[in-house]
Amino acid sequence: MVDHKLNSFSKELNFRTILALLFLAFLAVVFVALPARAEVIQLGARTGDLFELKARKIQPGEPLVLTWLEKKSELATIDFRGEHYELKARPGQADFIFLGLDLGVKPGRETLHITLWSGGSEKDQITADVEILARDFPKKKLTVDPKYVHPPREVQERIKRESEILAQIYGQTSPEWLAQGKFELPCDGQLSPNFGQQRIYNNVPRSIHAGVDIAIASGQPIKAANDGRVVLASNLYFSGNTVIIDHGLGLYTVYCHMSKLLVKRGAVVSRGQVVGLAGSTGLSTGPHLHWAAKINEARVDPLALLEIEF
Ligand SMILES: [Zn+2]
Repeated sequence: MVDHKLNSFSKELNFRTILALLFLAFLAVVFVALPARAEVIQLGARTGDLFELKARKIQPGEPLVLTWLEKKSELATIDFRGEHYELKARPGQADFIFLGLDLGVKPGRETLHITLWSGGSEKDQITADVEILARDFPKKKLTVDPKYVHPPREVQERIKRESEILAQIYGQTSPEWLAQGKFELPCDGQLSPNFGQQRIYNNVPRSIHAGVDIAIASGQPIKAANDGRVVLASNLYFSGNTVIIDHGLGLYTVYCHMSKLLVKRGAVVSRGQVVGLAGSTGLSTGPHLHWAAKINEARVDPLALLEIEF
């Protein structure tokens, strides 16, 4: 009797095990298939130089990484969408650059030019078409304190000053790569994949949401997504208590609406280091972290950084 029960129990267990294994196999297929969807374009030159252009997707709001895989020349100059970049084949120099596609970039074909130099003269050129695909961003209606939709006159000077400070920060590029390895989410919590959402505040179409929101209780720790240098740790009108970390090569991550700042401008931080505590300061409808990333002036999806290998 006991044996029979055990037997049927083990049969049931076997059936469940098979189901669980099938489910795990399905997950494995899904997860293995996902990274393979990333875009990888290899570009070779007659000089033997080899480059790789990588992106999660070539779309508005995505960071593109151009890596110099095989260095035969002394210098590579890169021109893309009106911007000029340089890569030097010297030891200690970064062998990649970020090309940020702002979320407002128009889809269409762009040309990437790479010129290779040695001994002061041009050795070869690579020209590649890069197709920027269209991307649909969601819309959302929100009701907020009217002072954020139509800021009163007395704070307009403050808003202007803060936007000038931000423009100055993002206008600079640290030539060294200050981060290392993979980027990590700055906190646990319910993640809203609301990057690029067009926001209609109190029926007024306002800004585009240039980051992702992570719901998190006030007072919970917010951590640096990777190593870097703190270039801003202050209270701003819209983003409340804010930290900006410079990771080098024009890449910045931004942490907003915190209740408390725990780092100062100029501090060198490492991945996982607590930079502040979660809160709801500035233009915010409840405790959450607004996490953003910039590649100089380009607003890019910070979640894309989690999927890039350095
Ligand atoms: Zn947000």
